[in-house]
Amino acid sequence: MDGSVYRMGEISRHFPALAETGGRLVVDLGAITRNWHRLQRLAPQAEVAAVVKADAYGLGAESVATRLQDAGCRSFFVAHLCEALALRRHLAPDTRLIVLHGAAAGTEAVCAEVGVIPVLNTPTQLAAWTRLARDLGRKLPALLQLDTGMTRFGLAEADLSSLLPLLSEVDLQLVMSHLACADTPEHPANAAQLANFTRMRAQLPPAPASLAASSGIFHGPHMQFDLVRPGAALYGLAPLAGQPNPLEPTIRLDGVVMQLRDVQAGTALGYGHTAITKQPSRLATIAIGYADGFRRALSNQGCVWHGDTALPIVGRISMDSLIADATNTSLAEGDLVELIGPHRTPDDVARDSDTIGYEILTGLGTRCARQYI
Ligand SMILES: *Cc1c(COP(=O)(O)O)cnc(C)c1O
Repeated sequence: MDGSVYRMGEISRHFPALAETGGRLVVDLGAITRNWHRLQRLAPQAEVAAVVKADAYGLGAESVATRLQDAGCRSFFVAHLCEALALRRHLAPDTRLIVLHGAAAGTEAVCAEVGVIPVLNTPTQLAAWTRLARDLGRKLPALLQLDTGMTRFGLAEADLSSLLPLLSEVDLQLVMSHLACADTPEHPANAAQLANFTRMRAQLPPAPASLAASSGIFHGPHMQFDLVRPGAALYGLAPLAGQPNPLEPTIRLDGVVMQLRDVQAGTALGYGHTAITKQPSRLATIAIGYADGFRRALSNQGCVWHGDTALPIVGRISMDSLIADATNTSLAEGDLVELIGPHRTPDDVARDSDTIGYEILTGLGTRCARQYI
């Protein structure tokens, strides 16, 4: 294999200064750390890992992971090997870095060499990992995923007995599965997956277990096992549908007011003229658009905020800007307005644009100025 292709990646990125861009994303690493401690108090018997895939849900994997490592977090999950390669050298050698998708064919040796741990999701991945272990003459660490009813990743129950000989050749650090309906605790799939997990584990060599991501932690101790794998909850998203959010918000997105203009009643606004002023109005053009993750589905939906004053979004969201109604406000060009923050959380933005907070966070993009506090 060509080693150059698999150089350790470089995550540290240059973010523009506020004057060079249309807005600022503030990421509160202290709040993320407090959320991690809060989850540890909720699951006192379990290790609380951190899921930092997709650049820590858009908030910056290197910053988030190194901060949580300082707080005591010892296991980090990413989805892809490229994410693990970029993060590995920023973490202590004894910190576990786990690749949820496992090692793709041909990348097993790199995983072992740099010390990232694959999740074995398929019989093929298990066979390749044990083949490498034999070549290297040592047991290699791995996690094993079981499909307990999400039908996405993991070994099927019918495969288990034939795979037992191979399983005895790996250093099985954790047996895991993932809940399909965890944000709705009363959904019968949760109990069914728990029962399947317990039955399937009993057919395997003894190993620590993990079933809960963010939402599952809040079902209670019976779902927590030996390790929990929160992502969303660390970043402040609400874990359970329709219930109060016990976690601290972690981000704020502000946009720059580029231009103010006074218009007559009957003035058509933005692409497609989807809004028309009903009265003489003062309009603010704000330099954040859907390319910055402020989705086009938010056109004519909800408000941006200047202090505690709500400015309704009018017209379509453009790629790089949006228009808000600033009539009867003291807004000035160059001011910052809140797009995501205390008045409108990522979950609120998600609700208003028919998606989930996860998609809002991972869609934020890297074009804004960024400040870590
Ligand atoms: C993404 C993911 C998580 C984290 O999920 P959250 O709902 O963000 O806590 C945990 N486990 C697996 C297998 C995942 O894919």
